[in-house]
Amino acid sequence: MTERFCQTDVLAVPRFANIATFMRAAQSPISPGLDIAIAGVPFDLGTAFRIGSRFGPAAVREQSRHVRLIHSVLKISPFDLCRIADVGDAPVRSFSIPDSLALIESFFRSITDIGAAPLAIGGDHTITLPILRAIVRGGPVALVHIDAHSDTLDKIQNERLCNGTPFRRAVEEGLLDPKRCVQVGIRETLFASDDHDWAKASGITMIFMDEFNTRPLSDVVAQIRTIVGRSDAYLSLDIDSLDPSFAPGTGAVEPGGFTVREVQQLLIGLLGIRFIGADLPEVSPLYDEGGRTARVAASLAFDQLCLLAYGRPKGRAEVGT
Ligand code: MN
Ligand code: MN
Repeated sequence: MTERFCQTDVLAVPRFANIATFMRAAQSPISPGLDIAIAGVPFDLGTAFRIGSRFGPAAVREQSRHVRLIHSVLKISPFDLCRIADVGDAPVRSFSIPDSLALIESFFRSITDIGAAPLAIGGDHTITLPILRAIVRGGPVALVHIDAHSDTLDKIQNERLCNGTPFRRAVEEGLLDPKRCVQVGIRETLFASDDHDWAKASGITMIFMDEFNTRPLSDVVAQIRTIVGRSDAYLSLDIDSLDPSFAPGTGAVEPGGFTVREVQQLLIGLLGIRFIGADLPEVSPLYDEGGRTARVAASLAFDQLCLLAYGRPKGRAEVGT
């Protein structure tokens, strides 16, 4: 493992020292040799209600100083399996949604071009669309989407590119195969009674929170794995999937959500799925309390990093599966 892709040695350098990077990963430009690129996407112009997730990457970097090396359950050490770096933030513009999305797409394309997988910290959920545009090659992929919201509306206030629409656009553009897409934790109130009709008609599987509440979690995991199958998949974890008692720092608060432990167990259950990328959007420190939402996000992002590292060919080879 080359020095420049290692985590800062916490035994030599205190966690509170130096400039924060995601999980104390080395800071590096996007460059050959990298297996996983962790990137911030400080974009929130796609937010219909409460803005602020543009500050999410900085907050999660700060709170992720505490994350250690080895997953407590999976026993995976992603920094040993893969060459991982914090590649900084995707470029964005302050005033233009289209310009920002083009810049984000170009940034993530350069990650895919060197053969690395991205872990993106948002930013609002609009960011998933340019990321998928950049990294999906050779046909549509599967999706595991954990969220309070389906994000499959056609438009909000006539805007087709916002955080309520990315998964509809991605299916329309042939980036996602809806029959291999599953959404978990949906509990949003609706603008209109037909809000979910398109998603259901497209073949996306929606596991609503009231259904999740009546089923064993292991049963839900088994269903997700059946839907995704053995194909390439993308993992999108909206922080508002969690109950606001655990994650108040987000724009579209929906009470009645997952516990942290439930999301942890869901993610653990996804080990072995061939994830080509992952994101964690909608952390908004403006509404956070003492950084606890960003701290939860940092922990769940580490879980995502473990899934990505294990899913890389090199990761599978070293773990021996
Ligand atoms: Mn969302
Ligand atoms: Mn949401």
